[in-house]
Amino acid sequence: MLKACKRLALIAGLSALAAGCAVSPTGEKTLLLNSPQQMNAMGTQSFEQMKEKLEIEKDKQTNRYVQCIADAIVMQVPREYGYAPQDWELVVFKDEAVNAFALPGGKMGVYTGMLKVAKNQDQLASVIGHEVSHVLAQHGNARMSQQMLTQLGITATSLVLADQVDSKTQKAAVMALGLGAQYGILLPYSRAHESEADMLGQELMAKAGFDPREAVSLWQTMAEKGGAAPPELLSTHPASTTRIRKLDAQLSQYYPLYQQAQAEGRRPNCDALKPR
Ligand SMILES: [Zn+2]
Repeated sequence: MLKACKRLALIAGLSALAAGCAVSPTGEKTLLLNSPQQMNAMGTQSFEQMKEKLEIEKDKQTNRYVQCIADAIVMQVPREYGYAPQDWELVVFKDEAVNAFALPGGKMGVYTGMLKVAKNQDQLASVIGHEVSHVLAQHGNARMSQQMLTQLGITATSLVLADQVDSKTQKAAVMALGLGAQYGILLPYSRAHESEADMLGQELMAKAGFDPREAVSLWQTMAEKGGAAPPELLSTHPASTTRIRKLDAQLSQYYPLYQQAQAEGRRPNCDALKPR
């Protein structure tokens, strides 16, 4: 598969792309064409724009509650991902939308509307853990790379037919790669990315001492809220029965991690800070 990835990149006429073939945290083959530095810069830029565009929640207690949960989650991020706990920035947006996100560069956003659906610290931890996992698994980079490749597809075909790479075509391809910033960074993720973020996220929350069974409850609630006016989060993260079944099945693996965390004293008490 990794070979296929490299061949695809080579067909696209850019040997440099072949270097972008990578393996995701759960072993999936993935093509990453942007450097982590580029992704971090884009994530940070998007986050700054959101901070200007959206109202920021100033209520101290609300902020303390969400920060408490986010802190416990990011403490469990393995260092191999290149993030230290203090690298993460959290902003609570005063917005009724049921939404949350995380961006490369260690940026996390939680909307106050989400707090009405995620009933307790464990449910909100499952959302934050999931979003942080998208960042760790570099799903934004993978998605953008896929889009770039699709855009390059026509060029690639013509290249193969002509059996030559002229400098003009190569230049056009490189320019296409530089267009990354124009692609939305908050587009829906693929089903494979959702599953991977669910796995990593449920593991993170369990290790932090949050009850991983609450991830199942959260997504059940989300599924019930679909329909005429579905929560914003559902547009990027469908609450399918498959997802809920998988989260439930994964408990055999992650519940013991939660028990272990509790035994070792990782018992977050963020609910004590929760605004009534
Ligand atoms: Zn997701």
